[in-house]
Order: sequence, then C-alpha cells, then structure tokens
Amino acid sequence: MSNIGYDDTPFLPEPYSQWRVHDGQRPQPTIVAPGATSADPPSDAVILFDGTDLAGWQTTSGGQPEWIVENGYMQVTPRTGDIVTKAQFSDCQLHLEWASPVEVKGEGQGRGNSGIFLMGLYEVQVLDGYDNQTYADGITGAIYAQFPPRVNACRPPGEWQTYDIVFEAPKYQGADLVSPAYLTVFLNGILLHNRQPAHGPTGHRNLSSYESVHGPTGPLKLQDHGDLVKFRNIWMRQVDSYDQA
Ligand code: MG
Repeated sequence: MSNIGYDDTPFLPEPYSQWRVHDGQRPQPTIVAPGATSADPPSDAVILFDGTDLAGWQTTSGGQPEWIVENGYMQVTPRTGDIVTKAQFSDCQLHLEWASPVEVKGEGQGRGNSGIFLMGLYEVQVLDGYDNQTYADGITGAIYAQFPPRVNACRPPGEWQTYDIVFEAPKYQGADLVSPAYLTVFLNGILLHNRQPAHGPTGHRNLSSYESVHGPTGPLKLQDHGDLVKFRNIWMRQVDSYDQA
C-alpha cells in the first residue's frame, strides 16, 4: 500500500509517541454504519428495546416485568416495580426516548417521575420538569441528589424527549477508588452535563460515596415511581476507553 500519510513529520507526545503527525501507518477507525437518523441505532448498537417486547428485561428480582408494551413503546405499570436489562454494561453510550403523561397530575417529584439508572446505580432523573417546580438536584436531567442539569431543556408533557448519555463506570483497585463515574448527558440535543464526576451511586435524602465497592458492570434500570411514563427506542453502544494502539 502506498504511504497515505507522512514519514517526515514530528512524533506525537506520550503516550502516542509511536505515531508521527499524519502517520500513514496509524490504525484506521472501525467502520460503524449510522442509523437512518441520529436517533436510529447504528450497526454496532445493542438494541435494548425496539418497541415490540420486554424480552431483554426483568424485574429487579428476576421476574417477568408487568410494564405495558403497546404502539412501539413501553409504559410503567405503577407499583409493579423497577425493571432492569438482562444484559450488563460498564462504559457506554446510551440513547433513550421517553414521554411523561399528557394529562398533568401532581407536582414536584410527583409529576411524571421515573429514572434511568446506569449500572442500576447512577440515576439520571426522568421527570415532567416543564413548568414544574422542584428541588434543582431532582429536576429532569439531574444526576439525582448531586448535580442539577445546566439547563432545563424539557418539552411539554406528553411529547417525546430524547436522552443521549455517555457513561464511564468508576474504576476501583481493591477498595480504593481510582476514578469516579463520569456522566455526559444531552436532553433533546442540549448539553446538561459534560463529563461530570459523580459522588457515588445516587440516593435520596442522603450523601453519596464510593465507600461500598460495586462490581465492574451492571444493568440499565428504569424506575417505577408510580407515574405513567413511556419509553421507546433504547439502544446502547459499549464504549471502551480510547485505544492508544
Ligand atoms: Mg426518579
């Protein structure tokens, strides 16, 4: 193959110093075929929910979920419990669409509440946050109980809304935390968090910490908070740390 780059350019700094600027020998990026739109799953996505069934999901105790599937979406069946994927993940890119009920009921945390728990532990809040007052670290897109979103980018109740999330799992060495969980979150294409380090698994009315070491992988969990929240078009790409090779 002819040299597609340059061999008389400076070498890059560590840790990439085996490559020159424009090095023709540097490995090519893996080819991924995009979906028809940016919301459609690309060729390397793991489809977690395609609108037809809950085959990839279970209750937190391993049972059959009782959430409704109709018209291409799933909907919380209140008080039947949270649901989790059978598949386990660590670092990932997640796409998910959701809608709060058209009929507005309740206020604050009682309006269109659900949640997306990365690794089953780190909640990005789902809430009807449109013209709805609640504490800032619990509004739509909050890293719950820790970080309010930079902006409130909610659509009106009943409209489909989009989350795109990049999650980096925390890394432990034994009981020592090497790096925290990082979350990058877009709601409806608008940046809410930019590689925000989390304080630990999210909670309610308490401080988070990494004191309890958890495993390197976990499921995606969706919350039953008693409200008729819908979800559709859920897919994930496993994202490895940047390959320095
Ligand atoms: Mg919630």
